[in-house]
Amino acid sequence: MAEKRDYYEVMGVPKNASDDEIKKAYRKLAKQYHPDLNPGDKTAEAKFKEVNEAYEVLSDKEKKARYDQFGHAGVDPNFGGGPGASPFDGDIDLGDIFNSFFGGFGVGRNANPNAPRRGRDAQASVTISFEEAAKGTKKQVSYQRIESCQSCGGSGAESGTETKTCPQCGGTGQVRVSQRTPFGVVQTSRGCDRCGGKGKIIDHPCHTCGGTGRVRKTKTLEITIPAGIDDGQTLNVGGHGDAGTNGGPAGDLHVFVTVRPHPIFERRGNDVWCEMPITFAQAALGAEVVVPTLDGKVSYQVHDGTQPGDVFKLRGKGIPNIHGRGRGDQYVRVTIEVPKNLTDRQKEILKEFDGAGDEQRNYQKRKSFFDKIKDLFDTEKKE
Ligand SMILES: [Zn+2]
Ligand SMILES: [Zn+2]
Repeated sequence: MAEKRDYYEVMGVPKNASDDEIKKAYRKLAKQYHPDLNPGDKTAEAKFKEVNEAYEVLSDKEKKARYDQFGHAGVDPNFGGGPGASPFDGDIDLGDIFNSFFGGFGVGRNANPNAPRRGRDAQASVTISFEEAAKGTKKQVSYQRIESCQSCGGSGAESGTETKTCPQCGGTGQVRVSQRTPFGVVQTSRGCDRCGGKGKIIDHPCHTCGGTGRVRKTKTLEITIPAGIDDGQTLNVGGHGDAGTNGGPAGDLHVFVTVRPHPIFERRGNDVWCEMPITFAQAALGAEVVVPTLDGKVSYQVHDGTQPGDVFKLRGKGIPNIHGRGRGDQYVRVTIEVPKNLTDRQKEILKEFDGAGDEQRNYQKRKSFFDKIKDLFDTEKKE
């Protein structure tokens, strides 16, 4: 093992740092290197251990004094034996210190294996239609989660057999260890290795769960999807994740929602957009048209002279606000169908229409259009 670094150096504080400064430095570093925040990062893990070790000493008045006087030899029980007269209690529960900093988020390395622990969150996904997202729906989702084993009732012992109290620790899960150090015999407690800290021993493990008391299962659950949910949103269903341990609560279920695109409607925020083809004649003359909405068909009066790209609004025909009252609107963009495959008779009429009316005005309109094109080319030539 490499030479141990100076604890003050590890914490990045001066030798005369106050308790507060040391605590502050510890919080910062412990957060920075916490394994939950650096999954799989061995360097961070090593740093985290180093920081914890340094803090274990520097946060304890007695240990700090010994460290200041004798260096690592003053606090490390692995440093060679020697006579000592003042036994002291070396119990420190880092898990408690750590949990008090992170509001129970962290798992200290000395965390009690018998403490209640919340189960992990489980994941599921569901795909719904555009209309279902707009109106809300119920769906069955299937997902994997860890449940308490039913064969053994979660005890881990084959049914008909019983768990025994661990003879090594007497059921406490902890054993006290005495170590000789230069400063006396140090009493520490650590998890019992006979029972893994559980305090109980299983002679006949359950055949279903292998003695863990927990099994992975596929669960099917009906979930309620609220109106207004959007593609890519996640629903949180409380208490349907993995079972907790030692009486802890279950985790949550996160359901990732995918909304299939609609052939006509497009969602923008809580508004719905669509395109509405009308005929050339309807656009020119005005007409009552039938518009599809999420609530079914509605009539709308298109005014005469409607142009391609004109947008009209149907108030309140959009998507409900997922958080409460109110709905978006529907916007309808008009496209105009140019007739194809005309009969001779239709061509005749159209030609007549095109030439009819104020010929002079039509002619001038075209002339000015071609003049603009000509001007454009002339300008380009000059440049
Ligand atoms: Zn034990
Ligand atoms: Zn079992």
